Amino acid sequence: MNNTIQHFIDGKFTSGNSTRAGKIYNPATGEQSSQVSLGTKKDVDNAIAVAKKSFLSWSEKPPLQRARILFKYKEIIEKNSDQIIKLIVSEHGKVYDDAKGSLIRGLEVVEFACGIPHLLKGDFTENVGTDVDSWSMRQPLGVCAGITPFNFPAMVPMWMFPIAIACGNTFVLKPSEKDPSCSAKLAELFMEAGLPNGVFNVVNGDKEAVDALLVNKDVKAISFVGSTPIAKYIYENAAKNEKRVQALGGAKNHCVIMPDCDLDQAVNGLMGAAYGSAGERCMAQSVAVAVGNIGDSLVEKLSKKVEALKVGPGLDKNSEMGPLVTKEHLEKVKGYVDLGVKEGAKLVVDGRNLKLQGYENGFYMGGCLFDNVKESMRIYKEEIFGPVLSVVRVKDFEKASKLVNDHEYGNGVSIYTRDGDVGRNFASKIKIGMVGINIPIPVPVAFHSFGGWKRSLFGDQHMHGTEGVRFYTKLKTVTARWPSGIRSNPEFVMPIMK
Ligand code: NAD
Repeated sequence: MNNTIQHFIDGKFTSGNSTRAGKIYNPATGEQSSQVSLGTKKDVDNAIAVAKKSFLSWSEKPPLQRARILFKYKEIIEKNSDQIIKLIVSEHGKVYDDAKGSLIRGLEVVEFACGIPHLLKGDFTENVGTDVDSWSMRQPLGVCAGITPFNFPAMVPMWMFPIAIACGNTFVLKPSEKDPSCSAKLAELFMEAGLPNGVFNVVNGDKEAVDALLVNKDVKAISFVGSTPIAKYIYENAAKNEKRVQALGGAKNHCVIMPDCDLDQAVNGLMGAAYGSAGERCMAQSVAVAVGNIGDSLVEKLSKKVEALKVGPGLDKNSEMGPLVTKEHLEKVKGYVDLGVKEGAKLVVDGRNLKLQGYENGFYMGGCLFDNVKESMRIYKEEIFGPVLSVVRVKDFEKASKLVNDHEYGNGVSIYTRDGDVGRNFASKIKIGMVGINIPIPVPVAFHSFGGWKRSLFGDQHMHGTEGVRFYTKLKTVTARWPSGIRSNPEFVMPIMK
């Protein structure tokens, strides 16, 4: 294969020491489009050494000068957005406008990072004691690393590196080996904006590269986004190696449909949230909780829309839903639909056998809709990560809330209702990190923070916003006085400010 996606270390593309390569497919056609070098421990250690050296000068640069490079970066990404969006579509498969939306969401984090000098300001108190002042400041950590999933090849890395770098850290990114081209492009464009070599590096790879990041003592913090078993592995091993860690995992997001809601609005919201990006979103809504007597009309309206879903290649303007990312993932999702039928759920719309003329080898399936799904079923408990929506019917609001609260995942949830009391009570009591009221995908904007609860996030801090700034900086507090000539005697008691 001629086209090999390389690592980006110290401002240059390099194939490093890799002897292994991963295959990259165009999901729309099913053909292999390129391959990616899978990094070795030596490649990762090289990138970390370069980033460690670059930290010395980058961390000394005034925050305003760092921010100016981010301003320029924003402009350059905007200029190159069509190319980046097409890279996302060609390796992930999602439709063009959806890929565009995800890039804009990433860009908003760059915009947020442009204002970081304001957030790096410390606190100051004059006279904590007589003629004694105290202040605290936030300083960068050193080399930070990011490990990211396939489903948002631009947005999820952009939740991390713009903030880490604006805070004065240097960064090593290990993107998903399924769609790595976007990260390489983002790194190249950052150089064009004036970022010094070695501040942002990309090492491609799989478990070998990830494990090398986890054990290297020069990596001070790890940000991870991916499935729950790997998030837990990263959390445990990063902590064992004395690093800061935030590890975001999988999800099973519920949408509670109250009998008093505007049903057409709820159904439209659910369609986008369940089938957009072919359900390959950590904020996808894969469970609709029909409360009271709304179940029959909800399923009737949904089924018509699911049957009418326009599935096709991501670059076709008419497509509402593209293919899945790989053949293996397609088979896994279809396997879950087979399982749901075996478990006794009612398959109202079956998208398993969809074939597209001219794209027979693409990784497509149609939308699937299950009714009468029960709490005990695996299709309810596990994350499917495909275009499969399960309707669970419950008696009342209390049962709906209990269902959501009892689930092991706690990423996002929504409620559709016209009752303000119910909406407020839900937002206050529900055990989930991100809540929508009459909003289907409540993804917080860049200046708020993104993160789930329960087994959807291991660690203490959410991503981006002020939580991101806290994660990528450590606090130092200084207490000082400038005595003029008076010498004090030794004091052996705990100092008390007088
Ligand atoms: P994944 O867990 O398979 O891979 C994520 C990253 O971990 C990749 O970079 C991959 O190379 C690496 N990895 C995979 N197996 C590994 C192993 N055994 N040891 C070390 N590293 C390993 O996830 P994915 O399939 O790429 O992405 C989909 C998952 O990500 C879904 O579960 C989805 O919910 C989750 N996700 C979560 C969020 C969130 O914010 N909570 C956002 C996006 C995606």
